Amino acid sequence: MRPDLFEAPDYYLLDELLTEEHKLVRDATRDWVKRDVSPIIEDYAQKAAFPTQIVKGLAEIGAFGPYIPTEYGGAGLDQISYGLMMQEIERGDSGVRSTCSVQSSLVMYPIYAYGNEEQRQKYLPKLASGEWLGSFGLTEPNFGSNPGGMVTNFKDMGDHYLLNGAKMWISNAPFCDVAVVWAKNEEGRIHGLIVERGMEGFTTPETHNKWSLRASATGELVFDNVKVPKENLLPNKSGLGAPLGCLDSARYGIAWGAIGAAMDCYDTALRYSKERVQFDKPIGGFQLQQKKLAEMITEITKAQLLTFRLGQLKNEGRATTAQISMAKRNNVDMALTIARDARQMLGGMGITGDYPIMRHMMNLESVVTYEGTHDIHLLITGMDVTGIPAFK
Ligand SMILES: Cc1cc2nc3c(=O)[nH]c(=O)nc-3n(C[C@H](O)[C@H](O)[C@H](O)COP(=O)(O)OP(=O)(O)OC[C@H]3O[C@@H](n4cnc5c(N)ncnc54)[C@H](O)[C@@H]3O)c2cc1C
Repeated sequence: MRPDLFEAPDYYLLDELLTEEHKLVRDATRDWVKRDVSPIIEDYAQKAAFPTQIVKGLAEIGAFGPYIPTEYGGAGLDQISYGLMMQEIERGDSGVRSTCSVQSSLVMYPIYAYGNEEQRQKYLPKLASGEWLGSFGLTEPNFGSNPGGMVTNFKDMGDHYLLNGAKMWISNAPFCDVAVVWAKNEEGRIHGLIVERGMEGFTTPETHNKWSLRASATGELVFDNVKVPKENLLPNKSGLGAPLGCLDSARYGIAWGAIGAAMDCYDTALRYSKERVQFDKPIGGFQLQQKKLAEMITEITKAQLLTFRLGQLKNEGRATTAQISMAKRNNVDMALTIARDARQMLGGMGITGDYPIMRHMMNLESVVTYEGTHDIHLLITGMDVTGIPAFK
């Protein structure tokens, strides 16, 4: 890939609304991405491998548990700093952001929010430092958009639980040290269990042949009569609302992250449009190309404002599931449209790995599907405004 010349668009001077801490966190993450992610990421995406060497750096910049209190190893930041961090990391690559989202919002968050003090002390510092990587098992082969139908289950065997079933499409699965797994007890109630690598009967086969999120490892979590110690059950929340609460936190990060991917595509296309000459003038001088750029910066600006306000609400503990859902759907769709238009603006060069656009575009095809598909998020907003669920 070419040198990373990224310059962030800020059309409505949003920087003026950020605190010094927000800007410090954002700029440190941006510098780290330019230095440690941009030079290597295209190569890792091409060879479909997760760049394990960046784990230490991610931990050092605070990307594992940005809003988890410092006493558990987290960075203790507010929700806007967390969002800006996800924006900058996804500006580098959605797969790298996915690893952070899973670690922070889907593994550390449930242990922090639903776990007891011993579980927090045992797992959170090691997850924050990157010594351990985690995964989150909700989706199953036959239950994706409808996770409440899951068949993975555990039985109370007196001194331990016996876990059986399988999870599919699990980010970080192939190398995770711990997995937060959602399973039904004998009464059919959903609980979270912490499963550790090395437990007999627990395997994590990798999913190959992905054209998307190639720098993020995806796999299955398979449980064949796994004996899980009783102290590994998350005691403080059960029912479908428990995993869905984690998804709120991750989807909020995705809403910010998608802006990062969109900004990178826009910035690349803008620069290219000023340099590339056809019919004796830069292609940026043609109305059709300006229309694309004008619409891109408009949509990015709208998404930035929406997401900033959502961050304020989240800081105050007032952001609703439906508001987070709207931001996730809008921003990912916006980023995908921008990636497709930006790809066209680069002509043939747009399909090469010399530029980041095609990689962003392919990555976003996963982002628009995971953590609730675009259609499911439309139904969430539909239900919120009408009061009538249209899922069934
Ligand atoms: C790269 C990647 C990483 C992932 N990482 C994780 C992870 O770490 N942990 C995890 O638990 N899961 C993970 N997922 C799973 C992801 O959350 C699911 O793929 C997603 O929820 C959709 O489920 P599905 O693929 O089974 O699609 P389905 O639920 O089968 O949906 C197929 C289509 O039907 C539509 N549809 C479904 N129900 C309705 C309805 N009621 N009305 C209208 N349309 C409907 C959907 O919108 C979609 O277009 C990941 C997925 C991918 C691709």
